[in-house]
Amino acid sequence: MTETSGAELTIDLGAVQANYQTLRGHLGEAELAAVVKADAYGLGLAPVVRALRRAGCETFFVATAAEGMELRAIQSDAHIHVFNGPLPGEEAAFTEHTLVPVLNSLDQLQNWSAQGVRVGVPGPADIQIDTGMTRLGLDPDDLARLMAEPDLMKSVPLDLVLSHLACAEQPDHAMNPEQLAAFESGCAQLGTQIGAIRRSLAASSGIFLGRQYHFDMTRAGAALFGVNPTPLGSNPMRQVIRIQGKILQVRSVDTVRSVGYGASHQATLPAKIATVAIGYGDGYPRALSNAGTAFIDSHEVPVVGRVSMDLTTLDVTEVPSRLLALGQPVDFVGPLNSVDQLAAQAGTIGYEILTNLGRRYRRRYVGGEGNSG
Ligand SMILES: *Cc1c(COP(=O)(O)O)cnc(C)c1O
Repeated sequence: MTETSGAELTIDLGAVQANYQTLRGHLGEAELAAVVKADAYGLGLAPVVRALRRAGCETFFVATAAEGMELRAIQSDAHIHVFNGPLPGEEAAFTEHTLVPVLNSLDQLQNWSAQGVRVGVPGPADIQIDTGMTRLGLDPDDLARLMAEPDLMKSVPLDLVLSHLACAEQPDHAMNPEQLAAFESGCAQLGTQIGAIRRSLAASSGIFLGRQYHFDMTRAGAALFGVNPTPLGSNPMRQVIRIQGKILQVRSVDTVRSVGYGASHQATLPAKIATVAIGYGDGYPRALSNAGTAFIDSHEVPVVGRVSMDLTTLDVTEVPSRLLALGQPVDFVGPLNSVDQLAAQAGTIGYEILTNLGRRYRRRYVGGEGNSG
């Protein structure tokens, strides 16, 4: 593609692979599965999954059957698990595309059991138990019923029992050991019916809570993509994305003027305002109006005025003129400003910044060709 004025998103697949190895280094025997829901957290399902496979990853989790089918179309032999499990009527699609459903209720369990009887070769499934999220999964009453009626699980070969931590990014939170204990006792109950089971509790942050949280499989998403899994400390992961906009125009302001929609910023005179081609249409949050910062080379520059759909204005008064040429790249996420910092400035989390990355970016994938395993 030729040069365009539009903003550029660089995705470092080598960094994704390095992050996979870093996480694996924290695990003993436990498997590291990759969570690639929401188009691999906005970074592009196909290139991300290919890079992860080269790094040795064989098991993937997505949220919906549609995502599972999309992944199956590009990966014929990977293990694909689907967090949401089938809605009634969706079971056949799971069977057809060899997707392992996470069964989150007794109804889903019964329907999957019936599907197994229907097709003759019951497909493996996971069971999620709710240990404190109150979102998806079997609660203690459901487990008790399952113990009393083991036939509910007839024709359901169990692949994995899983649960999800609510507060794993806060290592001292009381919920962590509570959920751990609830998970172990739920699994022990199931184990009396089923015998040996594989267990999975930790996502990105949970991996850093220690070995007792790892069980047989961990499920990492955000950390693979550079979001800090230990936000109370420094980030052990490599940054994966860089977002660069280009300067379209620089205005020298020497009479009193406001900047942008709503006239929300008054330039202090004399000022230089650079207009850059990036906006909320690219997923750059409008909440960063008069609040965000970007970097031109090593110079931090504040966003002034409102972020609009296609344009953002920066106060570049302090930046040397040689760095203010038309087309000069500006880092909105880069070596000096992480996804997490941008998210904090916008009052959100890195996950939301990644999954909101717009479709208009000129996307560039770098690295990830090698086998980093
Ligand atoms: C999204 C999700 C994950 C991955 O979480 P990260 O914090 O991104 O590692 C793991 N398990 C479940 C159930 C999820 O919904």
